[in-house]
Amino acid sequence: MSETTWSVTVDKDLCIGSGGCVLRAPEAFELDAARQSCPRVEVMAASDEVLDAAENCPVEAITIVEEGTGTVVFPPAD
Ligand code: SF4
Repeated sequence: MSETTWSVTVDKDLCIGSGGCVLRAPEAFELDAARQSCPRVEVMAASDEVLDAAENCPVEAITIVEEGTGTVVFPPAD
């Protein structure tokens, strides 16, 4: 298997519950009872939708790390 997988986390101290990530990648994120985003699974297949969600989060609460290599996919290094 050479499919790229990502470990996706949401910083709940930053998430303001806008729901943008859920709209952009509903298969990857859901809002919990406190209206904060939660990844549906800890490790998921790499996808444009998930990257789009991270890039458009208004508070950059979403971090994506490539499984295996540990490369940070998002946020980009300064
Ligand atoms: S887009 Fe960002 S702030 Fe909005 S729900 Fe998702 S993680 Fe939270």
